[in-house]
Amino acid sequence: MNILVINCGSSSLKFQLIDSGTEKWIAKGLCERIGIEGSRITYTPAEGEKEETVTPMPDHTEAIRLVLEALTNEKTGVVKSLSEINAVGHRIVHGGEKFASSTVIDDEVMKAIEACNDLAPLHNPANLIGIRSCRELMDQTPMVAVFDTAFHQTMPAKAYMYGLPYEYYEKYKVRKYGFHGTSHSYVSKRAAEFLGEKYEDMKIIVCHLGNGASVSAVQNGKCIDTSMGLTPLEGLIMGTRSGDIDPAIMEFLAHKEGLGIDEVMNILNKKSGVYGLSGNVSSDFRDLEKAAGEGNEKAKLTLDAFDYRVAKYIGAYVAAMNGVDAICFTAGVGENGSTTRERVCAYLGYLGIELDKEANAKRGEDVVISTQDSKTKVLVIPTNEELAIARETSALLKA
Ligand code: ADP
Repeated sequence: MNILVINCGSSSLKFQLIDSGTEKWIAKGLCERIGIEGSRITYTPAEGEKEETVTPMPDHTEAIRLVLEALTNEKTGVVKSLSEINAVGHRIVHGGEKFASSTVIDDEVMKAIEACNDLAPLHNPANLIGIRSCRELMDQTPMVAVFDTAFHQTMPAKAYMYGLPYEYYEKYKVRKYGFHGTSHSYVSKRAAEFLGEKYEDMKIIVCHLGNGASVSAVQNGKCIDTSMGLTPLEGLIMGTRSGDIDPAIMEFLAHKEGLGIDEVMNILNKKSGVYGLSGNVSSDFRDLEKAAGEGNEKAKLTLDAFDYRVAKYIGAYVAAMNGVDAICFTAGVGENGSTTRERVCAYLGYLGIELDKEANAKRGEDVVISTQDSKTKVLVIPTNEELAIARETSALLKA
């Protein structure tokens, strides 16, 4: 089966065509600046050159039309016609409590996704536009929705409820949902498989450390807790998001700086995290490591604070599961930041963890980075959300 995976943001669209048999990508690319001047599409066939075209994309339908045109292009395309694209898998950010697993898209499902817009006002409407545009252009092709929140729906109420008046849960479904679920699911399963252990018997902690970052606790194949919340703002210190703070800081800052709620939210989402804490050095860990290496004290403090928060979440989840068999690092920083991994693991001596320096220096492959006699295994598992979405899509359509 050829599965087109679509990840539609408010002004961007990532795509990958995957052969579900070989699990290899056939072509991939990115549309940027949709609805903004200077929009462009990047397209890379697996057996060809990457090409970039600057072309107007007034809306997502036009972006998807260009994607389909690139995939079927006589010279550089990878399929002869649209009929060779057997299904589309859409990444959807928020599925609320309604979706605990992926689902085939129909009108009812569209309505249910729309009902979750309130919970993810920046993301879900864009995801829906992506689905509508695809349906318009490929009305006979089956489509599947894969939710970022679905994997975390197995959390027990004691983990997902906040200490707030219960009525807000009843009225508005205010609770912890968690995100990056496709990645946490993929990585935890892959870790068990790689170790040759039974997934259903394991206690696994996944640290998805990218620009957005979250930790999850997976016990017996089910997520029992995760660090992101109602929105992706909770938890770790991220690229530009604050993660956990005293909620009273919002009111304090609003008064002191004369800011409205939207401005405070903008600061917490876009100007905080490692970017803000470092005094605007960068949200990119490569820049922060470099600055810290050159003696920038704020950059050093930022990295210390980031590592410490990750280590604290790991500790909390060890307590929640009464132990841990494997700790996995994934996503941009988790996969590439060997120094971050080293510093986080330095907190974990109480778990009998010792790092294998040589293994920790490897890149781009599944690898155990703890020493052979480490009681708890530490792994790097490169995440592959597109492949996970393609797998879900093909499994649902075969069923
Ligand atoms: P997202 O998908 O959330 O945008 P990614 O998972 O792609 O993020 O991670 C991007 C981040 O990975 C970059 O901002 C950078 O901080 C980090 N990163 C990438 N390469 C390296 C590296 N070699 N060393 C440390 N961090 C890296």
